[in-house]
Amino acid sequence: MTKGLKIGLIGGGIGGITAAIALQKYGLNPIVYEQAAKLGEVGAGITIGPNANHVLNGLGLESKLEALASASPNVGTLHYKTGERLSYVSRGKQEYLKRYGAVSRLMHRADVYSLLLDTYKSNSENLKLSHELTTIKQNSETVTLKFSNGITDQCDVVIACDGIKSGVRDRIFVTEPPKFTGFVAWRGLVDRNLAPQVTLDPHFAAFPAENKLFGRYPVRHNTLINYVAVARKPSLSSESWSQRAEVSEVLSEFEDWYEDVVNIIRATPKDKCLRWALHSRQPMKSWVNGRISLLGDAAHPMTPFYGMGAGMAIEDALILARCFNEVGTDWEAGLNRYETARLSRANKMHIDSLERGEAFMSPDPKKRGQAPSAGLDDQLLYNANIVSI
Ligand code: FAD
Repeated sequence: MTKGLKIGLIGGGIGGITAAIALQKYGLNPIVYEQAAKLGEVGAGITIGPNANHVLNGLGLESKLEALASASPNVGTLHYKTGERLSYVSRGKQEYLKRYGAVSRLMHRADVYSLLLDTYKSNSENLKLSHELTTIKQNSETVTLKFSNGITDQCDVVIACDGIKSGVRDRIFVTEPPKFTGFVAWRGLVDRNLAPQVTLDPHFAAFPAENKLFGRYPVRHNTLINYVAVARKPSLSSESWSQRAEVSEVLSEFEDWYEDVVNIIRATPKDKCLRWALHSRQPMKSWVNGRISLLGDAAHPMTPFYGMGAGMAIEDALILARCFNEVGTDWEAGLNRYETARLSRANKMHIDSLERGEAFMSPDPKKRGQAPSAGLDDQLLYNANIVSI
């Protein structure tokens, strides 16, 4: 019986925890090994598109999600200097449901993550914190995992959900190290009361310019404004990938921009501004080696220009579970089916996201003026509950 397979998930981020819930849904009992002693998410926003909501709805979370964030009604592109509307796409909830079968939500990452974690923990005690994987070895019978706390464990199958810096990917697969993409992103969360003059129509607004991009949307029922500000940088001023940044650093990049942009940045609390050096890796030709595979950023660490990285991890999670539900005890068939169902879609999104970043920050104003979701529409129709596997 498949149900007897011991499936280990390395990493308890959005990908790992969603995979654990999805596997549980099909009667499997995975184990999540997470290096951190305490779990949490960064204070930032996250877009959860219809494709990801299909999965979350299928896992029974729709009413809880709705209580956290209702459907996002419209998106637009605004001129970075004047705020003039360059594109505006408005979709009521019913229209969204008719077109995609699910809505789009703009959320606080911590809200989404806590919901996932609570859902998993309410049905399982198989969450092993303070388990940093240090060694992974496999033979024809089993995968052996060693952790820095001295514990050793064995699984029938291991799925690495250990993020962009995936140690499993480095040890088990032919891959190159993560590479700086040439983009730096600053993220901030601003109290709406500290920027009352800023318009929140469109709900999601992108302000593109040559070599720079500013995006903002409200979260937590309009009480906070989340933003991501991106600038092309030929080289890194610091080795660190993510770190706290000075608000003045962001302002110096965007100080002559439209007043809403400047007012949002100015309202950032001193300790709530974070800088990311955006890294990526080349798309892979295969995600399976023996009894080991990859999921989420470990498999496809993409740039955030379509806001689809977590969405792809969430899709992976459900497809993985559906595949293992289908194949009985044949773990090899389960992994191959998962890879076949997911690899080309995730790789396409990976490449499309990079290209979207280039279009957003192109010297050509026509390219920059497109709707933020230009080119994405068909991809949002993907429903992991029903696609063939
Ligand atoms: P992670 O969240 O990185 O989780 C990996 C987990 O593995 C962590 O908990 C880590 O502690 C654990 N781990 C690592 N190594 C080990 C080890 N050796 N042993 C045990 N545990 C280990 N995506 C969207 O869908 N929408 C957005 O709006 C969006 N915006 C973004 C904006 C920015 C600026 C950035 C940088 C990314 C954005 N993304 C967005 C992408 C999204 O954040 C990621 O794709 C997603 O979080 C990946 O989830 P994951 O679970 O695969 O990896």
